[in-house]
Amino acid sequence: MTTIANNLQQVLGRMQHACAAAGRVPGTVGLLAVSKTFGADAVLQAANAGQRAFGENYIQEGVDKIAAVRAAAPALALQWHCIGPIQSNKTRPVAEHFDWVHTVDRLKIAERLSAQRPGHLAALQVCVQVNIDGGATKSGVAPAEALELVRAVAKLPRLVVRGLMCIPDHAPEFEAQLAIHMRAKALFDQISALQEPGLAQFDTLSLGMTADLEAAIQAGSTLVRVGTGIFGGRSYPAA
Ligand SMILES: *Cc1c(COP(=O)(O)O)cnc(C)c1O
Repeated sequence: MTTIANNLQQVLGRMQHACAAAGRVPGTVGLLAVSKTFGADAVLQAANAGQRAFGENYIQEGVDKIAAVRAAAPALALQWHCIGPIQSNKTRPVAEHFDWVHTVDRLKIAERLSAQRPGHLAALQVCVQVNIDGGATKSGVAPAEALELVRAVAKLPRLVVRGLMCIPDHAPEFEAQLAIHMRAKALFDQISALQEPGLAQFDTLSLGMTADLEAAIQAGSTLVRVGTGIFGGRSYPAA
């Protein structure tokens, strides 16, 4: 077994354990493998071990990797999620190459993604990013503005609004992690409960990373985004 395959099993084990501890049905939480800074070979190793959904932060890196993986394994059906910040002049490659976007935090980005989504592709699946703990420098819409943006995204023809995504600041203690994750879950539940027609597929709470996936699952995450736990430590290129 490769290191990546072994790590993947460990992460799936942690998720299963967290589901059991939370009294949740295993399989109600999905795993997004965050492959940023790692190459197509790492993605292929994880895919060979059964992983199908991958997350990328840097758009050009993601687009290049999607092409490289497709060239190496044309029959492999993978799902690609954009989880990095998107400037408005970078929406086109996202609309053309990704299946999901977790980082919509303003209407202008959503409008451009909808307009640029090619007709031969399925609608782009979108989460609205919420700045749940109010970090001053962070992207994400304020919690009080999330519903309005969700409703506006729901009206766009080539987008499907699937839920919320949050990246809370790291807290070392489980209880502190849980408290902030619960705020995300409460907002998610409030919006889900509206049962509006445009929100029929509002079913995704993208929450939790390597360090806090247990607390996220306890709180009600439906999709954890794990990089380090699967691929190992990252070394970033100099900015
Ligand atoms: C890098 C990243 C992750 C994965 O983080 P790890 O701590 O390596 O698991 C998840 N979500 C987002 C938005 C990221 O940028």
